[in-house]
Amino acid sequence: MLRVYNTLNRGKEKFIPIREGQVGIYVCGPTVYDYAHLGHAKSYVSFDVIVRYLNYLGYRVRYVQNITDVGHLLDTGEDRILKGAVRERIEPMELVEKYTRVYFEDMDALNVRRPNISPHASAHIPEQIELIKRLLSKGYAYEVNGSVYYSVKSFPEYGKLSGRRIEDLREGARVEPHPEKRFPLDFALWKKADPEHIMRWPSPWGWGYPGWHIECSAMSMKYLGDSFDIHGGGIENIFPHHECEIAQSEAATGRPFVRYWLHNGMVMVGGDEMHKSLGNFITLRELFRRYSPMAVRLFILNSHYRSPLEYSDEALTAAEHGLERLKAALTNIDIAIRRNPEERDYEEERLSGQEKELFEATIDAGKQFREAMDDDFNAPMAIGILFELARKGNVLSQLEPTGQRLAVLKKVKETIGEIIGVLGFDIDGRRVESEELVRLVDLLVKVRSHLRRMAEWEVSDRIRDELNKLGIVLEDRSEGTVWRLK
Ligand SMILES: [Zn+2]
Repeated sequence: MLRVYNTLNRGKEKFIPIREGQVGIYVCGPTVYDYAHLGHAKSYVSFDVIVRYLNYLGYRVRYVQNITDVGHLLDTGEDRILKGAVRERIEPMELVEKYTRVYFEDMDALNVRRPNISPHASAHIPEQIELIKRLLSKGYAYEVNGSVYYSVKSFPEYGKLSGRRIEDLREGARVEPHPEKRFPLDFALWKKADPEHIMRWPSPWGWGYPGWHIECSAMSMKYLGDSFDIHGGGIENIFPHHECEIAQSEAATGRPFVRYWLHNGMVMVGGDEMHKSLGNFITLRELFRRYSPMAVRLFILNSHYRSPLEYSDEALTAAEHGLERLKAALTNIDIAIRRNPEERDYEEERLSGQEKELFEATIDAGKQFREAMDDDFNAPMAIGILFELARKGNVLSQLEPTGQRLAVLKKVKETIGEIIGVLGFDIDGRRVESEELVRLVDLLVKVRSHLRRMAEWEVSDRIRDELNKLGIVLEDRSEGTVWRLK
């Protein structure tokens, strides 16, 4: 039974979707004005695994993740997209196109599956205007001088997600009085645009552009309905962004907006949060020059999605090595399966002690994996189970072949494949393409062993070196020579 940590109630709860067998999930997407950094990867890899696991459990999932291309303002009041367009001296929509492509390329490299719908904020202006009109007509919003603001005092539950109270927030130093706002915490639904503002649209209140929060309410409800199952994002979005989404949506529809709020932890650099504004961020492009994208994915999933992720070159290097070990184990298991001369059905009484142990361990590993993932998507624990199983399979793959060993290795391979599929590791790596190749290399190894017994070192070393050039590594052990793919 899947249990998820729900920020709304500050605890783990049984996951019961609104419509049986179906899950609607919305995750706040990127603001496409610059290269994606590790913070983005942490969020989208985390939710990718969540979606993959929901699929694995048999749910039909509709995953919506927006593209913010208007209205997300900096503290200075500048629109991020406009600022980026000025920086690169291109049209705002040119900037949006460029960084949307870059974003998807980076996510593809990380093997993050694309959402089912990636709606752009600028393509949903009519929906946002409609929602603002509803809020105005119901008395939750007011218009001043061509801008529309949400009145937080009109929504008594404002603060229920973040646990903040309006009174406390009001005293907070960051809330500046605003000449147009009735109350300092009120937030903009629609902003009047000056004539020189390039990104602006006509509305019942004149030319302007939407605020950031309203796009997520409008687009999530358009594609997932007034009430849906999961809303995700980084913890930094809990307040004010998600708090405002709840206020807008529930005030407009009179219905609960989201059942489960899931939030991922942030990336930390030397104790500070990784932020574009702090200048301590590492773009994914930069990271991929030093580490393989799958190592970055493994590094991210090695800590729980709700935990902070401390950036560390040592941990990334360790992930790279871990991945190599995993690939080698998979290749060896594959070779062993192909090598086996005669396939027999599984007969428990004919298993050796070691085979029996691994067969049982494999079945246990499958169960433990589901338990780990059922417990609020505990990917780090699932990774531990995966590596332990791969290690044991690797040992067995290098023992003398028997028909029964094959049955066990097939089970190991199948279970590893299941876990890897949910964690989203694209590590097919090298595969032995044919049984003939396995037999051919086996034959060469036998001939070489014969030569070694006859002290023909020069020829036997040459066979080893030539095979190495082809990516086939020979290892001489006391019990004989084994080979694997590099
Ligand atoms: Zn959002």
